[in-house]
Amino acid sequence: MLRAVLGRLCSRAKQAPLGIQIGRFSAAAIPAPIQRPDVQYTQLFINNEFQDAASKKTFPTINPSTGEVICHVAEADKADVDKAVKAARQAFKLGSPWRTMDASQRGVLLHRLADLIERDRTTLATLETLDNGKPYAISYTVDLDLAVKVLRYYAGWADKCHGKTIPADGDYFTYTRHEPVGVCAQIIPWNFPLLMLAWKFGPALATGNVVVMKVAEQTPLTALHVASLVKEAGFPPGVVNIIPGMGPTAGAALASHMDVDKVAFTGSTEVGRLIQQAAGQSNLKKVTLELGGKSPNIIFSDADLDYAVEQAHFALFFNQGQCCCAGSRTYVQEDIYNKFVEKSVHRAKNRIVGNPFDFKTEQGPQVDEEQFKKILGYIKTGKQEGAKLLCGGNPAADRGYFIQPTVFGDVSDNMTIATEEIFGPVMQILKFKTIEDVIERANHSMYGLAAAVFTKDLDKANYVSHSLQAGTVWVNCYDVFNAQAPFGGYKASGIGRELGEYGLEAYTEVKNVTIKVPKKNS
Ligand code: NAP
Ligand code: MG
Repeated sequence: MLRAVLGRLCSRAKQAPLGIQIGRFSAAAIPAPIQRPDVQYTQLFINNEFQDAASKKTFPTINPSTGEVICHVAEADKADVDKAVKAARQAFKLGSPWRTMDASQRGVLLHRLADLIERDRTTLATLETLDNGKPYAISYTVDLDLAVKVLRYYAGWADKCHGKTIPADGDYFTYTRHEPVGVCAQIIPWNFPLLMLAWKFGPALATGNVVVMKVAEQTPLTALHVASLVKEAGFPPGVVNIIPGMGPTAGAALASHMDVDKVAFTGSTEVGRLIQQAAGQSNLKKVTLELGGKSPNIIFSDADLDYAVEQAHFALFFNQGQCCCAGSRTYVQEDIYNKFVEKSVHRAKNRIVGNPFDFKTEQGPQVDEEQFKKILGYIKTGKQEGAKLLCGGNPAADRGYFIQPTVFGDVSDNMTIATEEIFGPVMQILKFKTIEDVIERANHSMYGLAAAVFTKDLDKANYVSHSLQAGTVWVNCYDVFNAQAPFGGYKASGIGRELGEYGLEAYTEVKNVTIKVPKKNS
């Protein structure tokens, strides 16, 4: 389904605005966004209550399309983290309503939460676009669609996390139980705020954990709306706590907290290192990390050229280029290199950048001024190091954080733009000769999150996909995400997997229970 959503999106620039089809939605079927939405929830959510920060501090959240303040949001600090962790610990106490709830009932609550998110879909999509800048049609379809599906998928798992009976030696009955880990800190980024919340809540709550989530300072609004839905759905107090705040204060306090059992983080590799250090230096809490990437997208000369150009464009530019798995090293075989570059530049020049609430828009602003400046800095470095700027390279509007779709050709492997994560609408095209050459170059990276290969030759596709060091390899497609299939990184791209059955592992402890069985009944 998501594939269909995204696939149609790739070609929608060619269609008349009113004829837009986004997966099963036509533009006419997507409700208009809410005009001047009234932001209802701006406080911390602890123990099922909205409340100010202990310090009473707030911070502004900005509309990246204009640079204007949307509203002020309560800013959690260490004192609030302590309060949220205490509430979560209380909710996790033996004998508590949450601990004694039937597993199937946890599934019911997750389904109810998914229902409420669907009910408030227009509000949530509007808030997401306002806060993050991604096109509203994408928020409504792609982000909301997968968020709901992930919650429903894990709702189904709630009463299916079976242990095993084990044929141990001796007169013993040995079995395993999959028990919740406990208090889980979840720290999420701003590129898919609602979706990352769903990826993290789903497996944690299905398996009976309690959660303290720190949302990114750039995009707190949808998570706070979901907080109100958590209460409405009927989760007991303290099971879910959501605290907006800054990374170095609230985030760091969670990562080093002595009463947090696990931390799950998505964001930069740099902060991922800090999280793991903090965990090691405090109570050795369990750590899962979903970090950056510099994913190779390999286009062989036998691929369908126009399809590969469109997919490579989508692989890089989707979500304003702000994807951890963006196909940011586009390797093209030498005999089609010139044609591929020419077509890619043409496509980038036709990309529609502008007001994210306009249904025609393919690309909105970058999330904030810091990212905007960082990306322009990478473009400058690319030019200085000798890559060929083929289009774009500048801001795309007088206000807001819009950047022109940018394509670099003649990129070589050691250039900064070919090794570091740019996280913006900047495409790097590199030339390769042979299959062995491109596999070696593709794997020569500190990252290993995703990769793709485009070819009509099945043997080539199999050989390359088995040779690449990446947690996900897409063949003749890109950015195909399903609630059922795992996602995560090799090497510095992370630790552990999210989604699918594999995503449950990080949220359960396996307990072995061994019981003496008498030899005969006395
Ligand atoms: P980031 O700092 O890694 O942000 C991710 C989350 O970690 C945010 O909630 C952030 O809080 C928090 N955080 C920051 N410092 C922390 C600390 N010392 N301890 C605990 N938590 C901390 O990412 P960013 O600064 O927003 O973006 C920088 C770069 O990271 C991007 O250019 C991109 O390359 C990469 N990135 C990757 C992903 C991904 O999906 N893998 C997502 C976003 C960014 P705040 O609210 O203060 O930001
Ligand atoms: Mg940050």
